[in-house]
Amino acid sequence: MRAAVPSDTKGQLVPSSVTTRRDVVVVGGGQAGLAVGYFLAEQARDFTILEAASGPAAAWRDRWDSLKLFTSARYDALPGLDFPGDSDRYPTRDEVAAYLEDYARRFELPVELDSRVRSIRRSDGSYIVELDDRSYEAEQVVIATGPFQVPFVPPIAEGLDPSVVQMHSTAYRSPESVPDGRVLVVGGGNTGFQIAEELSASREVHLAIGSRQTPLPQRVLGRDLFWYLDTTGLIGKTTVSRIGKLMRKREDTLIGSSPRRARRAGIEFHGRAVGTAGSTVSFAEGADLDVGGVVWATGFRVDHSWIDVPVFDGNGRAVHERGVTNSPGLYFLGQLWQHTRGSALLGWVKDDAEYIAQQVALFRPAASRELEAAGTSSKN
Ligand SMILES: Cc1cc2nc3c(=O)[nH]c(=O)nc-3n(C[C@H](O)[C@H](O)[C@H](O)COP(=O)(O)OP(=O)(O)OC[C@H]3O[C@@H](n4cnc5c(N)ncnc54)[C@H](O)[C@@H]3O)c2cc1C
Repeated sequence: MRAAVPSDTKGQLVPSSVTTRRDVVVVGGGQAGLAVGYFLAEQARDFTILEAASGPAAAWRDRWDSLKLFTSARYDALPGLDFPGDSDRYPTRDEVAAYLEDYARRFELPVELDSRVRSIRRSDGSYIVELDDRSYEAEQVVIATGPFQVPFVPPIAEGLDPSVVQMHSTAYRSPESVPDGRVLVVGGGNTGFQIAEELSASREVHLAIGSRQTPLPQRVLGRDLFWYLDTTGLIGKTTVSRIGKLMRKREDTLIGSSPRRARRAGIEFHGRAVGTAGSTVSFAEGADLDVGGVVWATGFRVDHSWIDVPVFDGNGRAVHERGVTNSPGLYFLGQLWQHTRGSALLGWVKDDAEYIAQQVALFRPAASRELEAAGTSSKN
């Protein structure tokens, strides 16, 4: 360990904090961070996993109470540890959280909780990873901060009267989260359908669907959908392959939720929600609806603004090849379609994690520094 004397944004010296050296810093302790941690531990690397939340499996614990996975337990395992119980069942949110917690403990992965990374920058051929109270210096950094980061609510939400209770799906826990009376769920993905169906047992529910997603059954002829995707090799089609590109275009698929079942449950469908005034929401087809509550199941945005390394395109998207960026030793893991459809799924993140761990092992810092000094970025 060695002391550093950083300055604040006004350039004034702030009390010295500690800078610790590690071979590799992994940012994010969800399934992606743990999976790469498993392989780094196998290599006996000196590494740490920095996790912003105060407890393990934070992203899963933040999801609604009754969430059931759309992947069966057979396809929910990280490297080296089967998901417990009947492999044909669809585990709950809490089971996944318990599994991830057990995983980190069992493989003694060095997860540091309450450790939000505030910035990453390049300095003298290393990365400086800064937290509120300390920093790390590492030659290699893996960003595993998740594909679903910042809840997105469309600007029309602002037009709703304060008497309308509204929340993003991340704040929805159970029907008790929403007041009695007519509720609108906005968003026709798996999340919107699951929440709408749960609410429909106790109140009048409307569902606004901006763009239709192809419904796929969870099971076909007694087998899980992912069994077919796995057996046919479709799940492993890469983002640059012809089939991969096609699948990516149609990525929005509803797994296990069916519009027909939702209609039978009494849910009324609308097109895209396009405007609000008072307690009224208007839809693309021209209809208006008075509501008492709105759940915005409208997805997420990724925020990498805290990474001060030039590896992003004009839209702030990380530029990489299978997670490997042009900045020597900087990797991403767990992104949607990072390499295949499975990249951001529990059961397949191990493939990318193993690949990134291999890149870590192959990395030659001196060679990278020389190339960097010559103005040429390298990928190992
Ligand atoms: C509603 C929903 C249902 C899903 N269902 C399934 C399913 O059935 N099957 C399946 O395989 N997949 C499912 N997924 C997809 C995927 O498995 C999850 O999104 C999973 O949580 C992604 O894991 P991750 O480790 O990449 O990211 P996350 O689980 O999001 O973990 C990232 C971690 O990074 C931390 N972090 C973020 N920023 C920082 C920072 N600056 N410093 C330090 N730490 C930071 C966060 O606190 C978080 O713990 C689902 C996703 C959603 C949203």
